[in-house]
Amino acid sequence: MFGTSGKKQWFSVKSMLAGVCLAVIVAGVTPMIKAEPKTEISLMFKGQPQEQEAYQRVIKSFEKANPDVKVKLILTSNDEYTTKIQAAIAARKMPDVFYINPGDVKAWVNAGLLLDITKYVENSKLISLDNMWSLGVNKYRYDGKMVGRGALYGLPKDLGPFALGYNKTMYKKAGVPLPDNDKPYTFSEFVKVCKQLTKDTNGDGKLDQWGTGFNVWWSLQPFVWSNGGDWLDKTRTKVAINSPKFIEALQYFADLQNVHHVTPSIAEAQTLDTYQRWIRGQLGFFPVGPWDLAVYDQLKFEYDLMPWPAGSTGKSAAWIGSLGFCVAKGCKHPKEATELAMYLSGDPDGQQELVNLRVQIPNLKDKARAWAKQTNTMPANKQEFLDIVNDYGRNFPTEYTYTAEWYNDFFSNIQPVLDGKITAAEYCKKERVRMQRLLDKAIKQDKKSKKRAK
Ligand code: CA
Repeated sequence: MFGTSGKKQWFSVKSMLAGVCLAVIVAGVTPMIKAEPKTEISLMFKGQPQEQEAYQRVIKSFEKANPDVKVKLILTSNDEYTTKIQAAIAARKMPDVFYINPGDVKAWVNAGLLLDITKYVENSKLISLDNMWSLGVNKYRYDGKMVGRGALYGLPKDLGPFALGYNKTMYKKAGVPLPDNDKPYTFSEFVKVCKQLTKDTNGDGKLDQWGTGFNVWWSLQPFVWSNGGDWLDKTRTKVAINSPKFIEALQYFADLQNVHHVTPSIAEAQTLDTYQRWIRGQLGFFPVGPWDLAVYDQLKFEYDLMPWPAGSTGKSAAWIGSLGFCVAKGCKHPKEATELAMYLSGDPDGQQELVNLRVQIPNLKDKARAWAKQTNTMPANKQEFLDIVNDYGRNFPTEYTYTAEWYNDFFSNIQPVLDGKITAAEYCKKERVRMQRLLDKAIKQDKKSKKRAK
């Protein structure tokens, strides 16, 4: 799904090193003739051109509201950002304000790179934390032991609740009752509907549409979590994939293809990936993130959002991604730099501009609620995004650990389970050992980095 359904910018930079080093484009605003030297705040920024443009407008408004401050913008593409920021970190020449993935909070704080912005934020009238999603804000808290609590080291640029979408047009054609926004399907109900939607519509003996076709990296989590399983135990020091609930959910996920045949076959998935099949109206269900909205406006069928199917807990679950703005420790103007981060994260007018672009949901609760009421544009059930943020969304397990290697290993080796060559139980038993070894390594690295920081 990466690269097809829009770049998900917030996945750990450690897991997706890529990019060619291109020249940094410094697009400063030519200063007006003015005698007084201004406080200069540098901001390293990445994004699609449309997004960059919107942010430049927001930055101009910030400068207008803060005439003594000038923002020096360092623009990079999504791909080159990681290389650039890592080079800046290595040289200890960080910009004042830059992006952070929630998965890097621990490592970057331990390495002494980030400013604790708690007091600036709490004492400021620029934003009210009460009007921001706590799930988003808490991703950037760290108390030295656990991420999610303690001092604030960043503010969300955006939040990405990963919702489940369905092809309403396909439902109607098949005469299947539409899903209930407030009552998730059970696992068996979901299979049943998938079967009703998997069809040879032109009678040539070949299937033309399927129930679904999930990418395991991004869509297994709702099934595992709603079934009461998780990748980590409560202490976040032990890999927990060998629990019966976890295994059951993984087997269910694999069976969608191998037992129930409600997804394109392996061969069919190779001729056209499932994202493309969803776009062409061949799939009943597919995930939808806020970053997809602008593209999905062009779909030739009607779609909407629904809760993810729920396993044995009876409650849906979904992940919620994010990217944040952080401030460099030791930056010359910490107050002004934090004010810029606050402005980008929570200024009402700026948020409106970004929402109009249809690439993100509002960071401000009141704005988001008003936005969710607009049922005249697709998806009508925008509320589902807010329900994830407010109610059933979760952090990626890697946001709690020092590195993501242990977690990535799980997905890197999973293909035989998806192909039905080995069972989920066999896989989880063996793989847990490998993952635990990598997690132990991460825990050691974490301790070492803390010592170095002292
Ligand atoms: Ca056919």
